[in-house]
Amino acid sequence: MTARPEDIPAHDADLRPDTVVVAGGRPAPEHDAPVGPSIVLTSTYRGSGELRDADRAYGRFSNPTWEDVEDVLARLERAELPGLLYASGLAAIASVLSLVPAGGRLVLPRHSYQGSLALASDLEARGLLSVTTVDVADTEQTVAALEGADALWLESPTNPMLEVADVPALLAAARERGVLSCVDNTFATPLVQRPLEHGADVVVHSVTKYLAGHSDVVLGAAVTSDPELRGRLKKHRSLHGAIPGPFEAWLALRGMRTLALRVERSTTTAGELARRLAEHPAVREVRYPGLPEDPGHARAAAQMDGFGSVVAIVPAGDVGAVEAAVDALRLWTPATSLGGVESLVERRRRHHEEPHSVPETLLRLSVGIENVEDLWADLDRALSGIDR
Ligand SMILES: *Cc1c(COP(=O)(O)O)cnc(C)c1O
Repeated sequence: MTARPEDIPAHDADLRPDTVVVAGGRPAPEHDAPVGPSIVLTSTYRGSGELRDADRAYGRFSNPTWEDVEDVLARLERAELPGLLYASGLAAIASVLSLVPAGGRLVLPRHSYQGSLALASDLEARGLLSVTTVDVADTEQTVAALEGADALWLESPTNPMLEVADVPALLAAARERGVLSCVDNTFATPLVQRPLEHGADVVVHSVTKYLAGHSDVVLGAAVTSDPELRGRLKKHRSLHGAIPGPFEAWLALRGMRTLALRVERSTTTAGELARRLAEHPAVREVRYPGLPEDPGHARAAAQMDGFGSVVAIVPAGDVGAVEAAVDALRLWTPATSLGGVESLVERRRRHHEEPHSVPETLLRLSVGIENVEDLWADLDRALSGIDR
């Protein structure tokens, strides 16, 4: 059995995040106990008479393997309650959006993850809520939109434009106005940014990305320190059924063991590639908050413990030329998604739902953990083929 949060020795509360990812979610330290957690495959639990633990009534309500991951996520986000694991990031997002009262108004960054935008506009089309989109880097505009709103959704840096929001100021503004706030912390990871510490009500993750880190599972999570909100989210998960499989949960935890190493390495490489790309004759624009000249740099430096490992570039040339450059890459994989050990590249506007304010030729680079020189050589060669 996994140690529950109440059994965690007091000294564990002080463990640093790069230790938590390794030490968390392990069996209680008894003699002969396995060192790593087991995958508990069960749809139901033994019991008769009065239920002693509602979580152990049925496999849709809880699972010990999920709880291992939920414990680690809570400790990484410095939450007071265990996280909630979901079948996907979007399932977690759908659960959080169910907290917005019927007919309520949601404030959402115009460059949010396109699945979040699509879900919000679907809910709006069905009359369940109304949506105001904002340029989240513009604090004044975003705060103005909060008047009379019911919920604030934040993503920072945004996907794929890498705009940086003033997270502490916007969360404080939401709190003052009694507006529910949620931060999608997928891009930053809890090693780099902990929105609950800035007053967010809920944090969500696409665990699919950096947390699991190997492009082999689809999984999501929501984390909150508010017992009432957690109760509602959990009820939504149980009733709507978007629960993870125990094997996927175990894989995610196995991936999280190396989160700190992966983030450190890919962030260093992303910074180096961004600097070189900014000098490349075939690149018109680079967006990366780690570059001193990036509009989000000062904010990111103030509120994040690193700049992440997604870089956006706008190469010279038209869509055809940029697609040809992508096809010329040998090491970088052309694919959607991000946060895995392998470097991926995607022209985001290949998705029809992508907002048209994202340049047609923008390439999103998800920097992995390969050798920086190999990544650079491949990029440089492919980009140099663009006729500019
Ligand atoms: C991928 C992603 C999601 C959706 O997560 P899934 O696991 O694919 O459902 C949500 N937010 C962001 C920022 C993402 O990158």
